[in-house]
Amino acid sequence: MVMDITSRALAYCRPGFEKDLAAELSLRCGKAGIVSQPRFTPGGGFVLHEIDAPEDEVKRHLHFDKLVFARQLVWAKAWLADLPEKDRLTPILAAIARLPGRFGRVWAETADTNDAKTLSSFLKRFMPHLERALAEGRRLVDNKPELPTLHLFFIDSSKLWIGTSEPADSSPWPMGLARLRMPREAPSRSTLKLADAFMSLLTEDERKSALRAGLRVVDLGAAPGGWTWQFANRGLLVTAVDNGPMADSVLQTGLVEHVRADGFVWKPKKPVEWMVCDMVEQPSRVAQLVADWIAAGRCRRSIFNLKLPMKKRHEELERARNLIYKRMSISDREWVLRFKHLYHDREEITGYLAAVK
Ligand code: SAM
Repeated sequence: MVMDITSRALAYCRPGFEKDLAAELSLRCGKAGIVSQPRFTPGGGFVLHEIDAPEDEVKRHLHFDKLVFARQLVWAKAWLADLPEKDRLTPILAAIARLPGRFGRVWAETADTNDAKTLSSFLKRFMPHLERALAEGRRLVDNKPELPTLHLFFIDSSKLWIGTSEPADSSPWPMGLARLRMPREAPSRSTLKLADAFMSLLTEDERKSALRAGLRVVDLGAAPGGWTWQFANRGLLVTAVDNGPMADSVLQTGLVEHVRADGFVWKPKKPVEWMVCDMVEQPSRVAQLVADWIAAGRCRRSIFNLKLPMKKRHEELERARNLIYKRMSISDREWVLRFKHLYHDREEITGYLAAVK
């Protein structure tokens, strides 16, 4: 097929998930009747999606929030190769000069691979020069968070893509990575997954209203208590369901009740705000459980992990999504469903399902 490439989406992902991201990008474009072609190297940590439609049109169909495997979504504008070692700045500034408008921030980025990480000291030295030149030319302005972000995505020190993203339709973090500090008192590293989910899957308003002290939470598969800790630390009251032991540091908060029971069977006596689920189980079984809780009004919101099989991640995700759609469509509730492959997820993805009325 002959394509007239009129726009390019550059999407970053965890290395090894390029095929899944490419499948999503193709599916979204295909559904909108747009011809496109993904280009990627397995393990490369990004997909360049070549598209036979103008950027403005594609942007109506391709949204960062809807892409599960994308850590970031950039609209690539210029490719530079063979940058001279002695003066990389001049050609980069010349390429940026051809882009319209001003920018709220400029980020030097690479793929999240070991090879690309070797560029970090070069980028630390190079970027202040670029930032100064852009600020002097009034292309980079402070205190305008609504302006587009300028991305310099380096493949190596002589090759890069230059692109832009809209703050309202992209990740707010460089390289799309929410780097969170491990809280000393939390009993397991998976605490970071839930902290990341709060940041990445909930809006600011949702965080404000749903993470208030005194609200009730059921944590299915809670031990040793990293997720429970995230809630207790904010003053929410948690019923932690697991046959395994909970860490003392979590129980000592006085906000946690430990119930030794099967998470697929146990139910609360009264409706709660949250049910979260980190039980390692078949994705379709977890999806069904979560949808049942929300549809029955047992909880208002849920964050849950789906452990995807390596060879069929995209298919398994769509299966879980369809199960939830089917269950929710026979309930009388309005609802939202979001998924993201978070920085702190490995072979799993994280979902958020909530009743909105
Ligand atoms: N979210 C936890 C944290 O942050 O510390 C880690 C959870 S760990 C990945 C999975 C837990 O699910 C295990 O403690 C296991 O005992 C529990 N689990 C698995 N199947 C379960 C079931 N049917 N009912 C209750 N707990 C279950």
